[in-house]
Amino acid sequence: MAQDDVFKKIVAHAKEYGFVFQSSEIYDGLAAVYDYGQNGVELKNNIKRYWWESMTLLHENIVGIDSAIFMHPTIWKASGHVDAFNDPLIDNRDSKKRYRADVLIEEQLAKFDEKIEKEVAKARKRFGESFDEELYKKTNPRVTELVAKRDALHDRFSKALNDNNLDELRQIILDEEIVCPISGTRNWTEVRQFNLMFKTEMGSTADGAMTVFLRPETAQGIFVNYLNVQKTGRMRIPFGIAQIGKAFRNEIVARQFIFRMREFEQMEMQFFVRPGSEMEWFRYWKEWRLRWHKALGMGDEKYRYHDHDKLAHYANAATDIEFEMPFGFKEVEGIHSRTNFDLSQHEKFSGKKIQYFDPELNESYTPYVIETSIGVDRMFLSVLCSSYEEQELEGGDKRVVLHLPAPLAPVKCAVLPLVKKDGLPEAAREIVNDLKFDFTTHYEEKDTIGKRYRRQDAIGTPFCITVDHQTLEDGTVTLRERDSMEQTRVAASELHRIISQKVSINSLLRKLG
Ligand code: ATP
Repeated sequence: MAQDDVFKKIVAHAKEYGFVFQSSEIYDGLAAVYDYGQNGVELKNNIKRYWWESMTLLHENIVGIDSAIFMHPTIWKASGHVDAFNDPLIDNRDSKKRYRADVLIEEQLAKFDEKIEKEVAKARKRFGESFDEELYKKTNPRVTELVAKRDALHDRFSKALNDNNLDELRQIILDEEIVCPISGTRNWTEVRQFNLMFKTEMGSTADGAMTVFLRPETAQGIFVNYLNVQKTGRMRIPFGIAQIGKAFRNEIVARQFIFRMREFEQMEMQFFVRPGSEMEWFRYWKEWRLRWHKALGMGDEKYRYHDHDKLAHYANAATDIEFEMPFGFKEVEGIHSRTNFDLSQHEKFSGKKIQYFDPELNESYTPYVIETSIGVDRMFLSVLCSSYEEQELEGGDKRVVLHLPAPLAPVKCAVLPLVKKDGLPEAAREIVNDLKFDFTTHYEEKDTIGKRYRRQDAIGTPFCITVDHQTLEDGTVTLRERDSMEQTRVAASELHRIISQKVSINSLLRKLG
């Protein structure tokens, strides 16, 4: 099945099974804003819990905060967002559609990568075992030509971005003959800068209301609380502050479902370190964060790092962790070495001294910062995409199953009486009453057992427990495992232990040590 079709099916599945709904749907929706349904909110909460506990339980020098969305407007002046939080946009005059100029060029680069990968894949098939990929890429004329073109475009693009050269960005789009996917034409406007922050008014206009911004990242709430937390928590460097919360960006190109939203959620951690030690910590967090992702068991080959060509004005190193979505490898998380830029700026703009006295060095300095920043919604999308499978079963039957990492699954187990009589519902209820304190447990008695299994597969429930007449005699039940569909007979008294081993977030945390 084409990847586009797979993605459409995933989006439809997310709606049909109560994971994600379009915001304001009965009013025809609001673009790039989404609501999470009954199963979505559970999955999302489990993702947040995994992140939060991995930060605050596993690191004794990381604490959390929850800062307000509204902040003093000068904060955004100090952080550079008022002046520089822009995207370069370009319009197609025929379709009247607006695009991000940098994204159009990145897509063109990705096309080169795809072509190169196709050639390599063909050759790999032809040469089999003896295939030397590096040698082939260096010597095959068709591939070397593609690589040279890609690299030249890449260099030109990086330079234009670094120089903030909007005319050059437009020229690249023209030279590469990039067309608008809607109109198919190359009738492009100039490239302009567009600020992504949402504004609103605080206080009544009669008093002279103040313009405030909806925060475009949660990080600044951490920086402006650095002193509060350091002093009241008696924190010693190196230490970190973690936060989960909403962020808002007036994205120009809002496509691909919850990948790019105008209201979304971030999980950010700022780690304050001694100046000069930032590269060591950057490497530490880069490695640690990838381990966090891989511990979910969604496939190590689905992740890759992407080091940044264009560093933000405040950064001295940056990398993304990308995940293979149905529409290609895409950024899920950023790890940035932000130097002492943010704290120094807030010191300058607030006039307050923001420093750390290091008792070991016997000197004061402005700490350097390593940031890890991940979008909850993108993480959610990566989990959903890698879990979705349409399976052909023996006997021509089909099922749609979500192979969710068990600790993230919205429902952990479903208890199903085989029939609605003979005391089976009562016995099943007893089991629910035992399990519900530790696991999200569903009770279902409607429809055939096969249909009930399918419904649980479709929302990714790791275990189904079937209660039958034998249960009344010997206290055993049938335990069905979602992925293998294997059924085993176990004592009801064993259920808690068996389920817990598989579904607890604890088991994930233990993998990280
Ligand atoms: P992009 O290049 O895709 O716009 P970014 O580099 O601007 O992302 P950051 O500012 O580094 O993103 O934000 C950190 C994380 O927040 C991203 O890795 C992503 O997971 C998430 N994120 C950023 N913008 C959005 C958005 N519009 N919708 C959903 N998640 C987002």
